[in-house]
Amino acid sequence: STFVGASFGGIAELYAQIQKAIGATERVFELLDENPEKINSDSNNSKEKIKGNVTFTNVAFSYPTRQEIQVLKDVNFKAEFGQKIAIVGPSGAGKSTISSLLLRFYDITSGEITVDGKNIYDYDLEDLRGNMSIVPQDVILFGGTIRENIAYGKPDATDEEIIQAAKQANAFNFVDGFPEKFETLVGERGVKLSGGQRQRIAIARALLKNPSILILDEATSSLDSESEKLVQEALEVLMEGRTSIIIAHRLSTIRNADKILVLDNGRISEEGTHQELINLENGIYKNLSNLQFSNS
Ligand code: ATP
Repeated sequence: STFVGASFGGIAELYAQIQKAIGATERVFELLDENPEKINSDSNNSKEKIKGNVTFTNVAFSYPTRQEIQVLKDVNFKAEFGQKIAIVGPSGAGKSTISSLLLRFYDITSGEITVDGKNIYDYDLEDLRGNMSIVPQDVILFGGTIRENIAYGKPDATDEEIIQAAKQANAFNFVDGFPEKFETLVGERGVKLSGGQRQRIAIARALLKNPSILILDEATSSLDSESEKLVQEALEVLMEGRTSIIIAHRLSTIRNADKILVLDNGRISEEGTHQELINLENGIYKNLSNLQFSNS
């Protein structure tokens, strides 16, 4: 029986190690993925606590693979602690690029980006990213349980904290409806979640991580209206008390932003509240707004 016990222990151990290795590999792939939209936030073990003031000054940028095209020519804006800043503009204007630069996925060509007055390239990368979360357009969960996916934002989170985050993110009810609840496997080998459900898991993860700076890349593909409402509610909770940069694809969700930036041809061409921009004669925002609301 000693023999059987030992060999069971060995197999279990080996199995655990393989599982761990698979999980780790998936996470590494996730983090190394070139597509910034696919990168999820890592956990917050930064040593430096950031308040969340962000500035872009004369920022210019070209992707290394397409140097001939200047995606951003001269971008200037300020996001102060606790504000909601929305970036709008035509498809391909460079909205998502701005978030990739803030997260330091690429190096800017010229200009300066600061966080709390300090150049972002002077931060330890782990400290910088540890204080930021991104909820991307299309959330990709790693192969593992729902619990692991949420706890990714804070690996030592207690059950209590995970449940609390899931509740705040409007994820608790659907998770609780699965037979295995938080132990339900997701990812390629697990249950298929809807886009809105995956976003709510990502929101729960971000809530646990508790970042100072939040980047929301709004989903372009429309969620059904019930899911949309649940996601929007969860986002409102998540944005509370943080600096939020919202890459907006629909104007309806950003009417209450503190500041809306209109990105056009590599520059911020208009800046103001919804009310201010809607009053600009021949303004881009005004035109976008007329178009979107007359279509819906
Ligand atoms: P959308 O509203 O369609 O999401 P966007 O305003 O977010 O667009 P970006 O995704 O920032 O625009 O893209 C800006 C420009 O940079 C586009 O011309 C795009 O083709 C190009 N681009 C984006 N990512 C890369 C990349 N990894 N390598 C090379 N070019 C890229």
